[in-house]
Amino acid sequence: MSTTSQSRRIGLLGGTFDPVHIGHLRSAVEVAEALELDELRLIPSARPPHRATPQVSAQQRLDMVELAVANSPVLRVDDRELLRERPSYTIDTLESVRGELAAEDQLFLLLGWDAFCGLPSWHRWEELLQHCHILVLQRPDADTDAPEALRDLLAARSVGDPQALSGPGGQIAFIWQTPLAVSATQIRTLLAEGKSARFLVPDTVLAYINNHGLYRGMK
Ligand code: ATP
Repeated sequence: MSTTSQSRRIGLLGGTFDPVHIGHLRSAVEVAEALELDELRLIPSARPPHRATPQVSAQQRLDMVELAVANSPVLRVDDRELLRERPSYTIDTLESVRGELAAEDQLFLLLGWDAFCGLPSWHRWEELLQHCHILVLQRPDADTDAPEALRDLLAARSVGDPQALSGPGGQIAFIWQTPLAVSATQIRTLLAEGKSARFLVPDTVLAYINNHGLYRGMK
């Protein structure tokens, strides 16, 4: 891997984490190990009030992510999006993180295939690669072609092997993961129906959900 001994390697995984689950955590651990990251930050996003899950506050989503990563040496929580007044654009978050790093530090933005395909609708999306590499989390069900608007970018910027990503940013790579077909939607539904979410979320997160009576009776 081409990196200087001083430069740090940092991954970013944004999401609503409502709640955080093993799909997020396993992906994060696998990417961190595969790319020998110094840290991988989970960044809970603010939600517009009309899209927030009733009765589950931003602070509670953050608390659950903090519990989930508590014993992991490489996984961290970054709360900068929750500290802002309004939902953040990813470009704002990248600029903010970049502003705290050394120029040679390597930044890796993790995106699911669906998110990656939606990139052309993102605010200032063409600037993202000025700040980071993009790692697309590849899943067996993601066998559709990339949208037309991304073809030129992929042709110009993608590298075949994620280990070959070099420099602070600017390239795209696909990375395979153990598929875990878990979603926060599924977990909210189970809990709303009074069923167990055990083994889909860390035990500490499940205890928090139970202690605070979260997701009960919701749809
Ligand atoms: P919801 O069901 O509420 O839409 P979600 O489970 O998809 O939520 P998010 O917080 O929206 O979770 O996801 C954050 C990031 O984690 C996204 O990039 C998403 O693609 C990824 N992700 C979510 N679930 C999984 C999973 N089971 N395996 C791998 N990546 C996942």
